[in-house]
Amino acid sequence: MTRVIATHLHPDHVGLAGWLCAKWNAPLWMTLGEYMSAQAARNDFVESDEIRAAHLARNGVPADRISLFHRHKGGYAKGVAPLPPAFKRLIHAHPVTIGGHRWDVIVGRGHAPEHASLWCPELNVMIAGDQVLPKISTNVGVWPNEPEADALTWFLDGFSRFRRLPANALVLPSHGFPFVGLHTRLDQLVAHHDARLNDMTTAIARRGAEGATGWDMVPVLFPRHLDNNQIVFAFGETLAHLHCLESRARVKRVVVAGVHRFVALVDPANEPPADDPSPEVMDVGAV
Ligand SMILES: [Zn+2]
Repeated sequence: MTRVIATHLHPDHVGLAGWLCAKWNAPLWMTLGEYMSAQAARNDFVESDEIRAAHLARNGVPADRISLFHRHKGGYAKGVAPLPPAFKRLIHAHPVTIGGHRWDVIVGRGHAPEHASLWCPELNVMIAGDQVLPKISTNVGVWPNEPEADALTWFLDGFSRFRRLPANALVLPSHGFPFVGLHTRLDQLVAHHDARLNDMTTAIARRGAEGATGWDMVPVLFPRHLDNNQIVFAFGETLAHLHCLESRARVKRVVVAGVHRFVALVDPANEPPADDPSPEVMDVGAV
C-alpha cells in the first residue's frame, strides 16, 4: 500500500484510515478541511454542550427535548482511530496520480466541510464518496458549530462540478451499488430537494405572520417517527432547507425573544409545482 485517501471525515469513511496508515506506514491524503475537522472532532473541539443547547433553543427546540440531542464526549474518537499527525493535502481541480492514471479532485460542500470525490477521465470513472448516492439522498445539515451555514445551497451548487463529467461515466458511490446515469441522478436530487423546499414553503405560509421555527418544520420534512439518532440529522437537514429558502428569498427570518422564526415571502400557490421523481430518497441514513 502506498497511501490512504479519505473522501471525508465521517467515521464510516475515515474510521480505519489511521490504522491502515500505521499498519502499512502509508501517508494519509485528505483535503485540509476534512483532515482538520476530523482532528478537531477526535479531540472534542467541535461542539460544546453549551453551544449545542443555544443553537437548539434559538431554533425552537423545547427545553425538555434538548437532551435528545446529547452527544457523548469522545464518541467520534471511539469510531475513528488516531490519524497520522501529518497528511498530504488534496486540492480541488488539482490532479493526483493513482495506478498510473490521472484523477481529478472534485470538492463538494454541504455534506462535509470539504468532501473530495475523484474523477478519472481516462477510465471514465468517478469515486463519488457520499456526494452523489444512487438510492438515498446525502444528508445535508446545519450543525451547532456553524449555525449560519447554507449547506443545501452549497451542496446543490456543487453539482455543476459533476455535470461537466460525461453522462455515461461509471459512478462508484460509498453507499449502494455502482451506477451509470450521473446527470439523471443529479436531476432527480435537484427535483427532490425542490419538492421538499416547496412543501416547507407551503407549511410556513399556512402559519401566516407568525411563521415557523426549525423545530416546527421537522415533521413537514420527516413525517415518520424518528429515533434519537435520526432526530439529530433530521433537525440539521430541516435547518439546511430553511436556510436555502432564506437565501432564495422565499422566507425571511425574524427573531422573536431570541428564537429564530421563518415567515413566507412568497405565495406557494403561485410557485411552479416541483415534480419529485423519487420521493423515497429523503433519508437520514447517509452520514
Ligand atoms: Zn458522509
